[in-house]
Amino acid sequence: MKIDILTLFPEMFDSLLCSSIIGKAVEKGIIQVNIVNIRDFSRDKHRRVDHYPYGGGAGMVMMPQPIYNAIASVKEGCPEALVILTSPRGKPFVQQKAATLSRQGHLVIVCGHYEGVDQRVIDSMVDEEISIGDYVLTGGELPAMVIVDAVARLLPGVIGSLKSLEEESFTGGLLEYPQYTRPAEFMGMKVPEVLLSGDHKRIEEWRRERAIETTKALRPDLLEGCSLTDDGEGPLKGKNKL
Ligand code: SAM
Repeated sequence: MKIDILTLFPEMFDSLLCSSIIGKAVEKGIIQVNIVNIRDFSRDKHRRVDHYPYGGGAGMVMMPQPIYNAIASVKEGCPEALVILTSPRGKPFVQQKAATLSRQGHLVIVCGHYEGVDQRVIDSMVDEEISIGDYVLTGGELPAMVIVDAVARLLPGVIGSLKSLEEESFTGGLLEYPQYTRPAEFMGMKVPEVLLSGDHKRIEEWRRERAIETTKALRPDLLEGCSLTDDGEGPLKGKNKL
């Protein structure tokens, strides 16, 4: 998958793209990430990219021309690329959205800054606005990293075992069951006996029960409109299945 990230702060992406699982995905060529400095596209002699808002008000707004030209340059020859603007007013980014985006061949992610982006570039060049949560950050770089991380780990070859993708929070509409590792006893707290039993059917049932219990306790909203009767397709029948 090709991902272009348009930003005023390219250096912020160094650690994401050079470390850990995402670093390896880049190394293996599973994702090709191209960081584009929006300022390089400014036609202003001082490379200016922002200006005061028409109508007054606090802060600065990113001017349309540099972003328009930056998007046009990465879309050249790839008109089908999906252009995403990170924005607090965008649609909430959820696991299902990450799965949909992971099926795209080419993403262009625009990182806003200051008070945001001139509406005309949004109207003419952006396909979707995406928010990573109901709070306001200083810029779109962290949201872009969140999107890249969540999308990339769904691509074949990024995560070692496909099973970890199947059995985790949100995939079946539930939060994940509790996990334990060595030692079997830690400070007097024992690992549930069933996990040491080697009985895979019992372990599966126990995990499903704990997943339902955890979801009811921590995120009851995920269960709204869902039926918990097992239809053989997975742990949950309902709107949240991917
Ligand atoms: N004035 C804007 C508003 O009230 O909606 C907030 C602008 S914010 C300070 C600057 C930039 O950070 C935004 O243009 C966007 O790219 C990014 N940003 C901030 N919070 C975000 C969030 N929750 N999700 C996605 N992007 C966000």
